[in-house]
Amino acid sequence: MTRGVAILGSTGSIGTTALRVLERQRARFRVVALTAHSNAALLAEQAARFGPGYVGLVGCDGAAPPARDGWATGTPCLVEAATRPDADVVLNAVVGAAGLDATLAALRAGKRVALANKETLVVAGELAHAAAREGGGELVPVDSEHSAILQCIAGRPGQEVRRLVLTASGGPFRTWPRERLERATVADALQHPTWSMGRKITVDSATLANKALEVIEAHFLFGVPYERIEVVVHPQSVVHSFVEFVDGSVLAQMGVPSMELPVLYALTHPERVVDTGVPPFDPVELGPLTFERVRGDDFPALALGMAAGRAGGSAPAVFNAANEEAVALFLDGRIGLLDVPRAIEHALGALAGAPGGTRETLLAADAEARRAVRARFAR
Ligand code: NDP
Ligand code: MG
Repeated sequence: MTRGVAILGSTGSIGTTALRVLERQRARFRVVALTAHSNAALLAEQAARFGPGYVGLVGCDGAAPPARDGWATGTPCLVEAATRPDADVVLNAVVGAAGLDATLAALRAGKRVALANKETLVVAGELAHAAAREGGGELVPVDSEHSAILQCIAGRPGQEVRRLVLTASGGPFRTWPRERLERATVADALQHPTWSMGRKITVDSATLANKALEVIEAHFLFGVPYERIEVVVHPQSVVHSFVEFVDGSVLAQMGVPSMELPVLYALTHPERVVDTGVPPFDPVELGPLTFERVRGDDFPALALGMAAGRAGGSAPAVFNAANEEAVALFLDGRIGLLDVPRAIEHALGALAGAPGGTRETLLAADAEARRAVRARFAR
């Protein structure tokens, strides 16, 4: 029996990686649903190749005609695809808080959610856990750091874990002095040294906002308090993260920087299956592995995000929304790179103490944060 996989965001970087993985795993998995935002041409190609029963184009909301006969359209596509009875696993590879409702719905429907869409857990980590408890769903991370941590913890109880150490490549600006960061262009930010990814997460990696999102994601996935989660810069991106146990032993998971393995593992966890697409590991070929402290003063988004995580309530949702809005303005050439953490700080200050708790209060905080950033920074 094959397991049905629904892929939300199939036309993106993670989505296309997942389809490459699934092409080699047709004996185990079949694609039952695909969604994209607006890339109808690639979605049509994927649908022809994998023959899913459900195809959804989210961006065709409102007056626009459906892109192809038989396709579903509009925002409801994500939840529809995520709750299909023939989907055992939902890979959420949508970017941004737009992926939230689909994650919650899939968990409530008892699915395994292979989660690339880290923004979901940042905005509403507690709600995601509640939805999983309610419906029997299960969250398995796709993010390479969290996949590494899951593999290192390997089912050991939480009280045996002393510390998580997430690795960060440091992004394209790791060695840039502060004055030069002020003048960094969009093209500079999109030159990631080790990972090829979508534009939003590539900018997040350049500002280290991505690592802040990942610390919050790790907190919710593994139940480890913030004071026991650290970040270290590791430019080669070979060690995907470390787990330190209470006896002082430290485990790391390694591999060449490719998302194929964490995507596959999220589908098969806790089993391991043969996959000939992952290149062989040659430690000599990978060369020296180095580690550095984070330059926190020059990359303030990390500390801002960690403080938002510790503050709890709606603060992580505000952090995320302000970051999404600021990254969009940066990618449009309307603000500078260092305006991104400034915008986050502004929104967190303006909305300090906004209530969290329910989906509605979190989404209200999200909307307010976006408004606050646009009002101050969109010129
Ligand atoms: P991309 O921008 O490459 O892809 C995003 C996908 O989501 C596309 O299929 C896009 O459709 C669709 N999409 C975009 N906006 C919406 C929306 N509002 N509603 C519904 N669908 C939408 O992103 P990535 O693949 O790089 O990242 C996806 C997620 O995975 C992010 O949360 C990211 O942080 C996380 N992640 C990514 C990694 C990577 O290596 N890329 C590594 C670890 C985590 P269309 O193509 O039509 O626009
Ligand atoms: Mg990551």
